[in-house]
Amino acid sequence: MTDTTVPDTVTSFIAGNWVAASRTAHEIPVLHPADERQVSTLLEADADEVDRAVSAATDAFRAGRWSNASVDERKRVLLRIAALIHAKGDELAHCEVMHTGVPIRQARARHIMRTAMNFEFFAEFISQASSAVFDQNPDYLTWVRREPVGVAGLIAPWNAPLALASMKLAGAIAFGNSCVLKPSELTPLSFVRLMEILREAGVPDGVVNLVNGRGPVTGAALVDHPGVDVIAFTGGTATGRQIGAAAGGGLKKVVTELGGKSANIIFADADLDRALDAALVAIFSNNGQQCLAGSRILLQREIADEFTEKFVARTRNLRIGDPFDPATEVGPMISAAQRERVLEYARRARGSVDLEVLHGGRPWPDAERGFYVEPTVVRADSNAAPVCQEEIFGPFATILTFDDFDEAIAIANDSVFGLVAYVWSRALDTVMAATEALRSGVVWVNTPLTRELRAPFGGYKNSGVGRDGGDWSRALFTEEKTVTVPRRSFPIARLGAAD
Ligand code: NAD
Repeated sequence: MTDTTVPDTVTSFIAGNWVAASRTAHEIPVLHPADERQVSTLLEADADEVDRAVSAATDAFRAGRWSNASVDERKRVLLRIAALIHAKGDELAHCEVMHTGVPIRQARARHIMRTAMNFEFFAEFISQASSAVFDQNPDYLTWVRREPVGVAGLIAPWNAPLALASMKLAGAIAFGNSCVLKPSELTPLSFVRLMEILREAGVPDGVVNLVNGRGPVTGAALVDHPGVDVIAFTGGTATGRQIGAAAGGGLKKVVTELGGKSANIIFADADLDRALDAALVAIFSNNGQQCLAGSRILLQREIADEFTEKFVARTRNLRIGDPFDPATEVGPMISAAQRERVLEYARRARGSVDLEVLHGGRPWPDAERGFYVEPTVVRADSNAAPVCQEEIFGPFATILTFDDFDEAIAIANDSVFGLVAYVWSRALDTVMAATEALRSGVVWVNTPLTRELRAPFGGYKNSGVGRDGGDWSRALFTEEKTVTVPRRSFPIARLGAAD
């Protein structure tokens, strides 16, 4: 991969053009987490620049080249975008690894494939979706038109930059909206390539605009802008609260997809070999930095010791290293702050009598540079421990033990979060009862991380408000207009008539 794959500087993309670098813009260094090298510089968009981006989106929406384009035309463009993402997958993956430190195999196979799939999915979805018709009344026919909402503000996190942002982006434009996208300030690189792909695929200028910068500056200006009609946010719970409140103040539609502390419940009768493989994937893939991580592993007492021993042995064997090496399984944390966060939880665990650090919890000793931590496994006596309650967002597994079904469910549900739950059992009764009792937006049975784009995805409790996926994305990104016409001319009361 050439050096030119990674842009030297990143500015905003407004109305089809890159904004010229301004000497007065706040600069944010973009680092490669594996060696802390500055690989690019982000020039932050201030409130004026965000205003220009929203105006460009509004103008494009009103001009109608995209918002009034036929579904078939939009479908063709979305499929072209997907094809270009596949064709340029290596470059995009290179950028994703450069700013996230996610291992290249995972970035290429999961992030980039999912990014392309998001556009393919919504291309197919819009071409098949239909709206309700109410023909029960003999005098009237009523139907529902779906119209784009207008300008969407899309705010994305750093852990899977393209894959998560493109779910919102593809949904927003598939239904005819214009948008302003704000990725995380830590991960702007791949979006430069994505904007070029959108232009090449034929997305009209101004339909997709990109602004970069810190959340409280660029992000807040976008959320607060009166020209933004709908907000789709993925990120942390504290930020989600602020965005929900700001959106409420402006009476904007909003969906928030937030953090998690998901329970991975493994019953004694499960296929334990598969459960072991999956437990490792659920907590250590994406360097442990994923909202749906199976970060609390709940083991039935009779299998707990043996399973824990095997889990720790496999954790010890994880191939930590250069994220560009295809053999690497775990790379560095995204930033020094994120590494410190993981290490601080490990330090507190070592100082607690209720917790036992079974492996890791220190900076990875082989790293001369880079934000590396050792994958960490902690046994907890009680689910009340902060390492069981708070989202750490790193390669940090806690292990808890339970005696029976009721205790497993009680522990799993004893959380302010409710994004995902994992259940491992061969018994249909156990599985069915668990799927009903768990308070989470998603339950994965005998499988790790399986995203079905047609189905809703989102959280209970502090894991968010609203869902995305097929019909749920359509609900967010469209207005419903109910149209009623008479089937025949029928008498209308003639108020004020002389006869
Ligand atoms: P974050 O909340 O710090 O930032 C997310 C985005 O919001 C960034 O683009 C940031 O710049 C922006 N932002 C921050 N403050 C803002 C403000 N006041 N107004 C507007 N925008 C603002 O989250 P993060 O650290 O980037 O990502 C990690 C978090 O995201 C974790 O909690 C993780 O669980 C969550 N996450 C959730 C999902 C999901 O689907 N539920 C998926 C991935 C990540």
